[in-house]
Amino acid sequence: MDSSLDPAEIKSVIVVGGGQAAAQAIQSLRLGKFEGAITLIGEEDALPYQRPPLSKAYMKGELDKERLFFKPKEWYTDQDVSLRLGEKATSIDRDARTVTLEGGEALSYDALILATGSRPRALPLPGADLEGVFALRTLSDVEAMRPLMVAGKRLVIIGAGYIGLEAAAVARQLGLDVTVLERAPRVLERVTSPVISAFYEDVHRAEGVDIRTGAATEAIEGETNVTGVRLMGDEVVPADIVLVGIGILPNDDLASDAGLSCHDGIPVDRDARTSDPRIFAAGDCTRRDIVHCGREGRLESVHNAIEQGKQAAAAILGKPRPPEDCPWFWSDQYDLKLQIAGLSSGHDEIVKRGDPEDRKFAVFYLKDGKLIAVDAINSPPEFMVSKKLIIAGAKVDPATLADPAVSMKDIAAAALG
Ligand code: NAP
Repeated sequence: MDSSLDPAEIKSVIVVGGGQAAAQAIQSLRLGKFEGAITLIGEEDALPYQRPPLSKAYMKGELDKERLFFKPKEWYTDQDVSLRLGEKATSIDRDARTVTLEGGEALSYDALILATGSRPRALPLPGADLEGVFALRTLSDVEAMRPLMVAGKRLVIIGAGYIGLEAAAVARQLGLDVTVLERAPRVLERVTSPVISAFYEDVHRAEGVDIRTGAATEAIEGETNVTGVRLMGDEVVPADIVLVGIGILPNDDLASDAGLSCHDGIPVDRDARTSDPRIFAAGDCTRRDIVHCGREGRLESVHNAIEQGKQAAAAILGKPRPPEDCPWFWSDQYDLKLQIAGLSSGHDEIVKRGDPEDRKFAVFYLKDGKLIAVDAINSPPEFMVSKKLIIAGAKVDPATLADPAVSMKDIAAAALG
């Protein structure tokens, strides 16, 4: 197999996947003056679109569908990007450098970008395939679910991650009766600390959501349509609609079937390159060195998709690697914007700034005196400054950090010198 990659010889790029990472890679290639052929293969029959609004404004009916698309159709025509939407890539032949589509057609590439994303983890329970049980990952998922989201309907959400809680907030605002069942002892356990979890549990309960943690689900009940969710101990929570938001799995089958070594995601280097120098991967389907956090893993985020889309494009163009950010995330629920920078696990000290009662506060996570993460609620300066401090690996004075009278600007100046 010819595995060399000379950017000057790259005349054709195939991008598999139609999400944020794919859209970014294509934009960066054209912005970087890549003049060769670009083909986008997307299984969904839709132009690349943003997923974050699906569980927020779009679900609530406050955002037009057109606003979800990164670029209109004409942009792809103008940029000479060949769209193969509604088509599935089924295999890669790395020796022949081709990608085969479900219909049997083989497309050639000089460089390939896998931006295959992730899929919702399926609920392994009886009744999970009944009418009225939904996952929330794609535009068509939301379009199928939204007509049922009307006042008075009973929605049961399984899983209290971002999907579950954002959907709970939207559903309450639309007047549904909402129950959230989380098997962990607290909501958002995977992504944040007990203090933030407790805050969100209080907020949702005050809004009328029945949040149940430590809830073990046993079955989804119903004949054809869902009628309820049975818990261990035989209690049945009545439901007209069930939303399952219990995490995602990376779509790495195409890569592993092609002989790329994968383990819970496609491993890539800091240029988004897989173990094959001609194949790149970007977004939810990858695992990577999480720079500024000193660890390796999967990142399920917009930040990751944008960064790796840019990295893959830069490597194909033979340009320097773009600057690497620290991980960031956000979540909108009711009037609350949660912004997270860094990864908090491994912290040895927590510092609170502001009062949760004010619905505006931040929780900082420190390790050996250095700031490693922040959860900032309705507090953009705390988020923005923390990102800089995390990237710089800066030590911070906990007492100053905890004092809202000291501005974040001054804290940054003291820490960064
Ligand atoms: P998630 O954040 O991984 O949360 C899923 C939750 O469901 C976890 O707490 C999980 O607990 C729990 N769970 C698993 N099995 C369960 C069961 N049988 N019964 C009850 N609870 C169960 O995943 P998600 O909320 O489904 O989100 C999917 C993806 O979309 C993620 O990548 C997420 O980051 C992304 N997303 C992000 C945003 C945002 O950033 N604002 C918004 C929407 C979606 P265990 O950990 O114990 O398994």
